[in-house]
Amino acid sequence: MSAVDDVLPVGYWHTLPDGRLQCDLCPRFCKLREGQRGLCFVRGREGGTVNLYTHGRSSGFCVDPIEKKPLNQFLPGTPVLSFGTAGCNLACKFCQNWDMSKSREMDTLADRASPSDLAAAARRLDCASIAFTYNDPVIFLEYANDVADACRAAGVRTVAVTAGYVTPEPRAEFFRHIDAANVDLKAFTERFYRNVCGASLAPVLETLEYIKHETSVWLELTTLLIPGENDSDAELNEMTRWVVAHLGPDVPMHFTAFHPDWKMRDVPATPPATLARARRIAMDAGVRYAYTGNVHDAEGGSTWCHHCGGLLIERDWYRLGEWNLTADGHCAACDTAMAGVIAGPPGDFGPRRIPVRPSA
Ligand code: SF4
Repeated sequence: MSAVDDVLPVGYWHTLPDGRLQCDLCPRFCKLREGQRGLCFVRGREGGTVNLYTHGRSSGFCVDPIEKKPLNQFLPGTPVLSFGTAGCNLACKFCQNWDMSKSREMDTLADRASPSDLAAAARRLDCASIAFTYNDPVIFLEYANDVADACRAAGVRTVAVTAGYVTPEPRAEFFRHIDAANVDLKAFTERFYRNVCGASLAPVLETLEYIKHETSVWLELTTLLIPGENDSDAELNEMTRWVVAHLGPDVPMHFTAFHPDWKMRDVPATPPATLARARRIAMDAGVRYAYTGNVHDAEGGSTWCHHCGGLLIERDWYRLGEWNLTADGHCAACDTAMAGVIAGPPGDFGPRRIPVRPSA
């Protein structure tokens, strides 16, 4: 499908004995009567089938630094064309993008763009990649896949920012189209996923193992640390040890600061010391690349060689400084390879954010 076309009949559902249609795309398994939308709002039942209602529609486009996704070891310093749609299949009480993810207004989806428009815009704007972000791309799988196909044909790579809450078959279809992913590992307890996100941890861990071991997608992880909810030493120890044991030491982990938002306005913002503590716990567990995020922290924001300890990529928030990597991504001091995707010298996009209209 290449034209702008809002309503698309989709797969990944089956009929239940009572006549309802069960969406099998994510582990929420919404059971739909005629005319009902799923929790994600963008998939629903009409005319005896399940449809995607946002093919070709977006809640806005921006050119961002790739470090903002955050991806620190995938084409550093390059611009990425970012967009999202509306809705989400999780219900996080702390959502930092709730105006889009919780939207039930089609006005939010005012920007129209076909996959070929998007690929052409990414090329025109010199973006090395395009990112599905702001809300979870899993729920608009078919649109994301069509955009990824058009981008690949134009030499533009595809990035997913996702919670990884998806069932096995669509998971495989989705990640076949993706070059790099930042997956939110929101916490390391079922309690948090159930009470704070209305979801479950186990399918997310399955997705992480799938991406790492069954695909060539470059993977980084982000955990938004919420005071008193998911920031204890014990939980961070357990999480980071699981990451090293199940995903290996080379998957970067980002610990980012929470700001009171949506239904969690009574919880204080994350102190910078908490981010530094989490980074230290991760490194003690064997994580080679651990970062603090959403704060000015030259040490925690930069990339260091895990072998000699030398500075590889200096970073202050989204701005790159010193660069001590060879053209093929080795430490300039000791020649140890840095894990990641490096294509020649770094980009110099910096911390800008440029709103764009791809269809213009
Ligand atoms: S993708 Fe949407 S409709 Fe389908 S199960 Fe998940 S929340 Fe429900």
